[in-house]
Amino acid sequence: MRVETHTCPNCGTVVAANVLERDRRLRCPGLDCGEILDFTDLSEEVREHYETNRDRYRLE
Ligand SMILES: [Zn+2]
Repeated sequence: MRVETHTCPNCGTVVAANVLERDRRLRCPGLDCGEILDFTDLSEEVREHYETNRDRYRLE
């Protein structure tokens, strides 16, 4: 399984893109960083990957 990541533009914290895919919006886990990371911040290529392979990321 391919693991994509997204880097917070504010503090550089790296989050897993599949978490963004699941929750769509995520408050940056970085210390003292309130940046809201959004699924739409991911590159089009990465988003397409998740839309195309959605079923493979369902764990239940
Ligand atoms: Zn951050």
